Amino acid sequence: MQKYIIQIWDKNPILRTKSEFIDEITPEIKEFCKDLIKLMRKHDGVGLAAPQVGKNIRIIATTQRNIKKGKEDLLAETIMINPVLKELSQDTTIGEEACISLPGIMGKVKRHKSIIIEYLDIKGNKQKKKLKDFNAVIVQHEIDHLEGVLFTDKLIKNNKVKKM
Ligand code: ZN
Repeated sequence: MQKYIIQIWDKNPILRTKSEFIDEITPEIKEFCKDLIKLMRKHDGVGLAAPQVGKNIRIIATTQRNIKKGKEDLLAETIMINPVLKELSQDTTIGEEACISLPGIMGKVKRHKSIIIEYLDIKGNKQKKKLKDFNAVIVQHEIDHLEGVLFTDKLIKNNKVKKM
């Protein structure tokens, strides 16, 4: 695997830049997607966005929880290329968030409870999914990274970050 540097600090210009759309899924891009999943696992994250490893391109890795009756949660790792939020629920949910790029802190953020997302998978196929709760929150957090936004920009009123 190529060497990547995890980007940290809320004033880091890479984390504050709007990332570029991917025009073509080249072998290099596919390789990068695999690396992004590996890095997400290595850092015990449930999501990781390309700018967090130094690349201002619109790719995110997420962990999706599949809840099936009578079975444990199954976790599926998903790569989303050029993800676009198509629909956002009026219903919201407030949860504690943390970020690999802001080590040691967490804080409460309000997110849409359910979303419809469109993206390209690693093979370049167009996907459209409805996600809710945990799965929807992760995707919203990661897409913010592609816009140069961090969870600390969105803390609910009167909420300060806490040390973990
Ligand atoms: Zn993050």
